[in-house]
Amino acid sequence: MPFIILIVGCSSSVKTFYELPVEFRSPEKRIELLKISSTYFKGKKFFLDPGHGGKDRNNIGYLGNAVEADINLNVAFALRMFIMEVGGMVEMSREKDTTVELKDRSAMANKSGADFFISIHHNAPNEKMDIWTNYTSTYYHAKDSDYEFEPCQRDLAKYIQRDLAYAMRNSGGLGSFDGTYSDYKVYPREGFSVLRLTKIPAVLVECGFTTSEFESARLVIDEFNRVEAWGIFRGICRYLINGIPEIRFIKTDTIDSNNNLNISFGIKDSAGLDVNSIKVFVDSVYYNSYNFNPKDKILSLYYPAFNYGAHIIRIIAANIKGNYAFPFYYNIFVENKTDR
Ligand SMILES: [Zn+2]
Repeated sequence: MPFIILIVGCSSSVKTFYELPVEFRSPEKRIELLKISSTYFKGKKFFLDPGHGGKDRNNIGYLGNAVEADINLNVAFALRMFIMEVGGMVEMSREKDTTVELKDRSAMANKSGADFFISIHHNAPNEKMDIWTNYTSTYYHAKDSDYEFEPCQRDLAKYIQRDLAYAMRNSGGLGSFDGTYSDYKVYPREGFSVLRLTKIPAVLVECGFTTSEFESARLVIDEFNRVEAWGIFRGICRYLINGIPEIRFIKTDTIDSNNNLNISFGIKDSAGLDVNSIKVFVDSVYYNSYNFNPKDKILSLYYPAFNYGAHIIRIIAANIKGNYAFPFYYNIFVENKTDR
């Protein structure tokens, strides 16, 4: 019996398909979005982190040509262009195919003075031969039952996830309702290093799977990388348009001889505050002995018999659109009576 050798070609038979966002097709729509957004981007700085690169070029995709490190960089360049077009500022963890350690990415972001950190990635499944799995997901750090969870990070994740998945016409994966995930789902109690170590609001996007036969064919097309970037950009626009409450320290009234503390903070939001969302923690313990006056937007905190030493007050608050304030911590130091 003769040998029959079956030669399987190395090219994909999958047809690429993607749709251009409406703002790419209609100049009027594009101008409209950019005009509205420019007010919100003014003075805002974004730290973009294209994942991997340099020594780390391991995720090469279905046919070996969809190199995650390169695609991440391409998407980041396009996103930088969109953000700068509306007057936002951008700094990046790398602009070339170079090795940048994970901890250095966070350190650079923390030093940059940026308001947001966005890490850009493309996914691969655990099983190497899985060429079917493909979805879009966005990660934030920790879980809402944990003290270290910052709800503003999930807000940003939600908005980016929705518009990114929509622009790519991908679903959000079945592991969460809306395609956003806590990074504890991947690394329990630890999360992603870049999200854990970055001290500004941070999210990580996994735009699509390079290992998917269908997705990998699109990911190597420049125009499609711009579609991805536009999805992220549009998500940020909608997030900013919905407003972010601002919390600020106003004054410490008294620490009397009994060490009773009276301290007040202002919380404002142009859309209006969700008064029920306000939470106060003192030294990481939930504390409900405060008063919020909705008229002057002042939160007064009364804390009896404060111990000597350092204390941290943390306040969480959302506006009526559901967007939470940036992380707010206020350090106080109660001196020993004999020092006064
Ligand atoms: Zn990655």
